[in-house]
Amino acid sequence: MPCQLDSLAGDNGQLTHVGVATMDGERRLLKADAMLAFFGLAMTLGPIADWGLALEHDHIVVDPATSAASLPGVFAIGDIARYPGKLKLILQGFSEAAVAAHAAKAVVHPGEVMHFEYSTSRGVPAGAG
Ligand SMILES: Cc1cc2nc3c(=O)[nH]c(=O)nc-3n(C[C@H](O)[C@H](O)[C@H](O)COP(=O)(O)OP(=O)(O)OC[C@H]3O[C@@H](n4cnc5c(N)ncnc54)[C@H](O)[C@@H]3O)c2cc1C
Repeated sequence: MPCQLDSLAGDNGQLTHVGVATMDGERRLLKADAMLAFFGLAMTLGPIADWGLALEHDHIVVDPATSAASLPGVFAIGDIARYPGKLKLILQGFSEAAVAAHAAKAVVHPGEVMHFEYSTSRGVPAGAG
């Protein structure tokens, strides 16, 4: 990273390499068995569209304070979530994940006090580093 897909190379109809190019135009061939493209360009709700959730232009309407959708216990984050001021950015999705986790904890463990802590003061969980 940061690279863009540049080319595909193969032998006898079988993929052998994926070519990538950096922003400066440097090209590299990476050995590969398969290429899986997940670019998030096609947003389809699939069966979720029939759950009875409030939708707007095929996006799930959420409360930005909690990431909660219109059905109790359902949360939506990332590009599929819609609320005023929404920006379709990775950073915003991460922020929404924290907001949703915070709100979902109260649904899963009602009445439990939430102790908010920073990793700065608590440290990284064992095995995560
Ligand atoms: C060309 C481009 C460049 C971008 N550049 C930047 C950038 O520089 N900086 C930045 O912050 N953001 C950038 N973004 C935006 C960023 O990619 C998105 O905000 C981010 O990927 C959203 O993450 P997500 O997990 O919500 O959705 P996605 O990354 O779209 O992931 C959703 C996944 O769900 C899958 N899916 C969809 N429907 C179904 C279904 N019914 N069942 C099962 N799976 C399903 C999709 O295949 C996909 O893999 C860019 C977006 C594009 C298109």
